[in-house]
Amino acid sequence: MPAQPDHAALQALLDFHAEAGVDCALDETPHDRFAAAESPRPAAQEKSVPPQPVPAKTSPPRPVSRPLPSAAAGAPDDAAIAAREQVRQARTLAELEAILASFDGCALKFSAKNLAFADGNPEGRVMMVGEAPGADEDRIGKPFMGRSGQLLDRMLAGVGLDRSEVYIANVVPWRPPGNRTPTPQEISICRPFIERQIELADPEFLVCLGGPAAQTLLSIKDGILKTRGRWFTYRTQDGREIRTLPTLHPAYLLRQPLQKRLGWRDFQALRRALDGKA
Ligand code: URA
Repeated sequence: MPAQPDHAALQALLDFHAEAGVDCALDETPHDRFAAAESPRPAAQEKSVPPQPVPAKTSPPRPVSRPLPSAAAGAPDDAAIAAREQVRQARTLAELEAILASFDGCALKFSAKNLAFADGNPEGRVMMVGEAPGADEDRIGKPFMGRSGQLLDRMLAGVGLDRSEVYIANVVPWRPPGNRTPTPQEISICRPFIERQIELADPEFLVCLGGPAAQTLLSIKDGILKTRGRWFTYRTQDGREIRTLPTLHPAYLLRQPLQKRLGWRDFQALRRALDGKA
């Protein structure tokens, strides 16, 4: 008779993984990377022989992961081209969200729980764009729902704004596993969607929350500490110009509370611009 699974041990293993931040399955088979590192293969062999899975010492529960559809596994350049073609068909934000929801070109879709397309008011004068959803945003399906979002709300309130006046989105609308930074490929695949989202929302002011959003939308290389608080011009694909302010990401401000004074200065600059004073 096959041995019965030890449910308590399996639960303890799952709890251990969750506490260590391993909260989604990326593959059907566990890989022992430590064992692989101890016995490196020669470089030539690495190229021709795909790494073989090393049997795990214990028998962890089989992770449930959905297979990647072929488009997601295809060339990223093709996915970016497909994204660019598809976004042109969206005439409204609702259509864009529907196209994004059925777009299979970004593999992040298949590890994320939900698409976090937008929150706030698309009619607002201000649009804010962050980097990518975290765990709370992934669970709820909207940007800036967790601790960063709470700080963002407090900063907005400090200059007399709230989410009924501001539209909020991310460069990448699916959570990268373990909250890692999105790769340049993932960003270039998702970029046509955020560009079209900005075009359709057509805000008067754009605020880039953090360096990755500023670098992506403004096509600049400078870090956020250099660009924050300065006004830039964002040009939509159809030639409109939007005044754009990069500022520090709320998650960074939570880690570096002394920098909040810089974030506060930037939000005051936004207030002055909204009041026609800058
Ligand atoms: N950080 C982001 O950049 N976006 C979110 O939605 C949440 C955290």
